[in-house]
This record gives sequence, C-alpha cells and structure tokens, in this order.
Amino acid sequence: MRINIHRLLMDIDRYAAYGKNEYGGVTRPSFSPADHEVRQLFIEEITEMGMQVTIDGAANIWGRYKGAGKKEGSIVIGSHLDSVPNGGKYDGPLGVLMAKEIVKSLIESNIRLDHDIEIVSFTAEESNDFNLSTFGSRSFVGRITAEMVEGARDLKGARLSDELIKVNGGLDKFGMMKNMHSEKKAFIELHIEQGQRLENANISMAVINSVVGTYRSTVRVLGQSNHSGTTMMNDRKDALTAASEMILAVERYCSDKGNVVGTVGKLTVSPNAANIIPGQIDFILEVRAEKSETIQETVEAIQEVWREIATRREVEIQQEVFLNQKPEVLDQDVVTCLVETAKEMNEPCLILPSMAVHDAAHMASVTKSAMVFVKSIDGKSHCPEEYSHPDDIEKAGNLILHGIINLDHILSEY
Ligand SMILES: [Zn+2]
Repeated sequence: MRINIHRLLMDIDRYAAYGKNEYGGVTRPSFSPADHEVRQLFIEEITEMGMQVTIDGAANIWGRYKGAGKKEGSIVIGSHLDSVPNGGKYDGPLGVLMAKEIVKSLIESNIRLDHDIEIVSFTAEESNDFNLSTFGSRSFVGRITAEMVEGARDLKGARLSDELIKVNGGLDKFGMMKNMHSEKKAFIELHIEQGQRLENANISMAVINSVVGTYRSTVRVLGQSNHSGTTMMNDRKDALTAASEMILAVERYCSDKGNVVGTVGKLTVSPNAANIIPGQIDFILEVRAEKSETIQETVEAIQEVWREIATRREVEIQQEVFLNQKPEVLDQDVVTCLVETAKEMNEPCLILPSMAVHDAAHMASVTKSAMVFVKSIDGKSHCPEEYSHPDDIEKAGNLILHGIINLDHILSEY
C-alpha cells in the first residue's frame, strides 16, 4: 500500500491558492480571511471522507477515522495549516494534507486499524500578532491557559478570545482539552526540514528524536550619544561598535563549539542618525541547542566575553531573559518504530534533532510523540521558494503510513 502522491501534490497546490499573494507566496496567518476559508474547506473535505470532526477550545481541528475498536484511543498525525506572511506552500500544510492522504489510502484499501486514526490541524503555529506561536498545541497540552488567552490582543486591538469564537473555538471550550489527552496514544508530525542537513547527506528523510531548547534575552548596550564630528575617537563610548564586538563574539563562540547556534536577528540603534555616535543599542540574543546545559554554558561564556568588552569600551550592558524553552526529548518507542519501518522499506533515513520548535515538541508532554522531516531544497523555508521533491515527499508519506500500521500493532505492548 502506498500513498497517492499525485493526489497529495494537487491538494498542496489547491490549498496554497488560499492566501496566495502577488509574490507567488502564501500569506495565511491564523484568523485571517484566507485561514477562515481554508479551515472551512478542510472541515468539509474530511467530513466528506466520513471522518468525525471535533473543534476544541483553541480551534484545533481534529478528524477521526474509526478503527476496528480492538484497542482504545487514537494515533494522531498532523501539523498546521497557517503560514507566515509570504511563506511557502509546504511548511505546515504538508503535514496536515499528508495526514488526510494517509487516511484516504487506508479507506481505499479498506483497512481499519486496531486504534482510531486522528488527523489534526493545529491553530496559529507560526509567530503571530498575538505573540503566541505554537498556540494550538501549547493550549491543547495546557501550557497556554484560558487566563493567558483572555489578555491577548493583536496590534489592532482584536481579542484572541473573539477570534477563537469565529473559528468555533473559544474560552468556554478550553477546559475540554485536558480531557482529550489520555485518549491520544501517539502523535507523529511530518514537516519539511527547513535546513540542509538532509540535502548535504543526500538522504530523503529523517526521524526526529528531540527538539532543541531556545533561549532568548533582550540586551541593552548603553554608551554615550555625542557629536560625530567633534568627539575624538579616544573620547567615545560608542554603543554600536561595542555591540558589534559582542555579536561577533556570539558568532565566534558558537562556531567553535559546533553543537549550538547563536543569533542576533533583531537590533535597534538609537538615536540612529548619521552625525550622532550611537548611545543605545537594543538587540535580542537567541541561543539554541539540544541540551539545556549547552545553552547555559554558552550564555555564561558569552557573558564573560561581553563583560570584558563592556569594561574596555566603558559601556553598560543590561540583559533580561524572556524565553527559556527547555529541549524536548521525543518518544524513543515511536522513533524506533519509524526507524525500523524505514529499514523494512529499504529506505535510508537519518536520526536528527530538530533545530526549530514544532507542535510535536508540545504534544510530547501529553503523548508519545515523534516527527519525520523531509528534505528541503536549498534549506529554504518561510519564503515562496520553499520546495521539497515529490519523490522525497512520497517516501516520507509511505514511512508514516506504514509507521502507524506498525505502531498500531506494538502500541499496547508498551
Ligand atoms: Zn511549520
């Protein structure tokens, strides 16, 4: 039994038409008109397939394909249908539409598994105006509470709680999500890699066994604004040149270490004028690694170098941590099952950590979870050029299809 790759590719193109923009990309953030339409389409299509649809408090869409009833609970597959502004057509929808394709393949082959199979589309996975990325999965597992949603508004002042009601979620349904946990026996998410590790290894897919932790802090460098003509070089306390040295130190340390990535992707210069020595720089330091200790060590080592720079350049550094997401170890049994399935299929696959956070990282706190990555061409994502080859997509789809069949057999043995 195999998935129908042509039907899947048509689905991916059809869904990409919702929110298609003038640059050829997809702009479909959750709660936008395009998102409303695509939700409607998805619900209609899975209902037509005979699936039982549930929409929870976070407006996550669940579709259930009943099993033979021999084992309790469900094996869940899915991802998200929202996109970043001007994103591609694979990040998110590939996982959801593949889940739909897998169930279609089971229906066509007249196969009912011992467990139910559920497909899920999580709400607002991407960064959004409510500042709550992976919103759907985090809410589902209880990491975002009803109280947190109550206060959330976007830049235009719209309330998240109102937006949820428009897509059949809502705060009054938040409590129900906790009761859904025990019934989910496993979760597998298919996603594009968004990096180049698979391409470099010339391998189509990877089973993901952990998701890296992410640390972010705001950093303020205080120097002294002054006239750029009359202040001699020796008399300056230039916050920007100090910050530049600090940022280069991050790059140097992380490059030398190898098992950690560090980034300064946002920086503000004040007063930001051609004839004034910069007096204040605000930037965000981000560090990601597979182990909490590695993140901790890296941050401490960077801070030590920064202190030396601050003393030498006579600037002040203020730092505040606003995110310290722990690395997430995914489920060894599901990982092993997928790796064994790939062997049965005679398809090589790597075992990798994910360097980006996905819904599976949160689902791992309530059920046995793992991920499959499919090779991204040139490692591109969050842009219209995002692409994965149909052959690679097909292999990854068949891996999950046969992976859940194997998992269905072995799950109750654990
Ligand atoms: Zn994604």
